[in-house]
Amino acid sequence: MAAEIRVFNCLSDNFGYLIHDTETRATASIDAPEAAPILKALAQENWALTDILITHHHHDHVGGVAELKQKYKCRVVAPHEKKAAIANADLRVANGDVVMVGNLMARVLETPGHTLDHVSYVFDREKAVFAADTLFSIGCGRVFEGTHPMMWDSLLKLRALPDDFSLYCGHEYTAANVKFALTVDGDNPALKARAEEVARLRAQNRATIPVLLGEEKKSNVFLRADDPAVAAALHMKGAAAADVFGELRERKNKS
Ligand SMILES: [Zn+2]
Repeated sequence: MAAEIRVFNCLSDNFGYLIHDTETRATASIDAPEAAPILKALAQENWALTDILITHHHHDHVGGVAELKQKYKCRVVAPHEKKAAIANADLRVANGDVVMVGNLMARVLETPGHTLDHVSYVFDREKAVFAADTLFSIGCGRVFEGTHPMMWDSLLKLRALPDDFSLYCGHEYTAANVKFALTVDGDNPALKARAEEVARLRAQNRATIPVLLGEEKKSNVFLRADDPAVAAALHMKGAAAADVFGELRERKNKS
């Protein structure tokens, strides 16, 4: 049993992802920012789309769903409606549900905050997590619909996954995230190493994703809001982690 994952660009800075089961040839798109690049990636591999796994209702994650569903008659899996309805959904999922893509198994992890409906898909056997706009490399999503404590709790759920899992996130924001992170966490050697790696990858126009979760745990300041060193850097010694996280998020919003 084996899975193949393809990473490509959609829209201006979204990632497109296909995960393919080599045994059954089932293929899922994680979100569908727009149809054209997904159709192109499928054609390149001679894969047929069987499933779309949607993480949340934002247009830059569902804009291509209708066209892909019309062409492939694929199943559309979407989070349970919390605020905005996702059109064309065949299956609604909630925390702990398991979604099969052929013989590949994805576990649904509710990770609200960016939106209330946001879910992440965890492929335990493949050691891959698709976290969309909850956790970015060296950053995290904006908190639009939820609260800072809710988003911090979601980040803790993702942080609890093993270090050797690969993170696949929703956007190529890593370089901007590094720039901000260095302003509060500039003495962190893991961040400095990641900054060099990201600069090299972007200079070659290459994606900064996937990245190992173990690396993110060391280098992503948003995952370290409960580290006393981060609180101290923000002059918030002794503050609750969710408040430190909130301050980080506010500063990033203004950066
Ligand atoms: Zn979003």
